Amino acid sequence: MESSQIYWNPFLEALPREHLESLQLKKFRRIFKWAYDHSKFHRRLYDEAGITPEDIRNFEDIRHVPKVEKSMMRDIQLKDPFPYGDALCVPLEEVTEFRQTSGTTGQPVYQPDTWQDWEWWAEAWSYILYAQGYRKTDRVFIPFGYNIFVAFWAGHYACEKIGSEVVPGGVLNTEARILKMQELRATAFMATPTYVLGMADTAKRKLGIDPAKDLHVQRITCAGEPGASIPTTKRRMEEAWGAKVYDHIGATEIGAWSYECLEQPGGLHVNEALFLVEIEDIETGEIITEPERPGKMVITAFDRIAQPCVRFDSKDVIQWAKDPCDCGRTFRLIKGGVIGRADDITKVKGVLLAPTAIEEVVRGIPELGNDYEVIVSKRGDVDEITLKIEILEEARSRKDEVLAKLKDQLRLKTNLGYKIEVHPYGSLPRYEVKANRFKDMRKKGH
Ligand SMILES: [Zn+2]
Repeated sequence: MESSQIYWNPFLEALPREHLESLQLKKFRRIFKWAYDHSKFHRRLYDEAGITPEDIRNFEDIRHVPKVEKSMMRDIQLKDPFPYGDALCVPLEEVTEFRQTSGTTGQPVYQPDTWQDWEWWAEAWSYILYAQGYRKTDRVFIPFGYNIFVAFWAGHYACEKIGSEVVPGGVLNTEARILKMQELRATAFMATPTYVLGMADTAKRKLGIDPAKDLHVQRITCAGEPGASIPTTKRRMEEAWGAKVYDHIGATEIGAWSYECLEQPGGLHVNEALFLVEIEDIETGEIITEPERPGKMVITAFDRIAQPCVRFDSKDVIQWAKDPCDCGRTFRLIKGGVIGRADDITKVKGVLLAPTAIEEVVRGIPELGNDYEVIVSKRGDVDEITLKIEILEEARSRKDEVLAKLKDQLRLKTNLGYKIEVHPYGSLPRYEVKANRFKDMRKKGH
């Protein structure tokens, strides 16, 4: 295939690394100066650190620019102008878009965007959809009410931008959405992994529809949870739908910064034309450049102007992949997507535990249902992990065998022992958007 048929932006996505890096440096300087000149919050932060736009000459200099944490954004928003506060870089009347973060990790943060920012969102999402094979011939169903959350709005407008037909499937319930997808022969949809699996389950059990045979879906774009980068969860989704499943990671306060491509290389490309991703050691803060060493992501969006994202401390734990992707993009890959949150990757009995490792094991055992819950607690001085699972009706007679397999694989994968609780099928909480399956009772707020 011609590169123009594979890439949304054939020039930028295949730019030689040295040119890409010099473009990144130039763009970092520009957004840093923008924030320094226009945001009272950023100016205070940088003045305190004694750093000015003239000090940024290379990537090493960028590492001295103070990071912005989400908790700072909440304080900023108590200041004028209402409701965004003094990180706002444009006159209030230039803001055309209001969105907010989902608040899963605390108080929601408001996110203003100008029309230019909004076009940038659609552009970033166009890279994603195009890389995953969306074309003008697709009819894309979005099974969500978009509400005040940004992701599917941006996905909607990107469909229009690349010329796909888009069907907004909000308000309807799950059954009605599935029937509408069948009626319209939708070729693609976007959802969280939890909902992709939940919809397939509903289709089979309540409507007698087998999505893999009776529907026309060829590709699914996942967002909001790590599942599409967890091989066993991805396989479950692909088998249930008879479709290819691709991952995307983005965030309201950052933008749509990464995407899996048609090669399904076991990771996601960072859109390095629009973002600078740095990986920092969780304990020492040292910048990690070598592959396969996890650390937390510090990210800059080069072109977002209303409320800039400059060295945002995302707390997402990621790692660079060793090899470049066969698709030919020069944008680097992060291996396995987001492995966890720096706050969740916690030490249990002195061992580092990533919740995604538990999901990989649970979803790899065909006798277990899709839903599960992990609770870390303390009994006396000893940490204890409880894993709640459901066994499928048809496998109940083999319960002991299934549990033995589960315990073995958990120990192998995570080096930890678990207290397993078996719950009746269908009794654990079901989630429509983002699942909250991991609870650490040792931390405050739980
Ligand atoms: Zn690729």
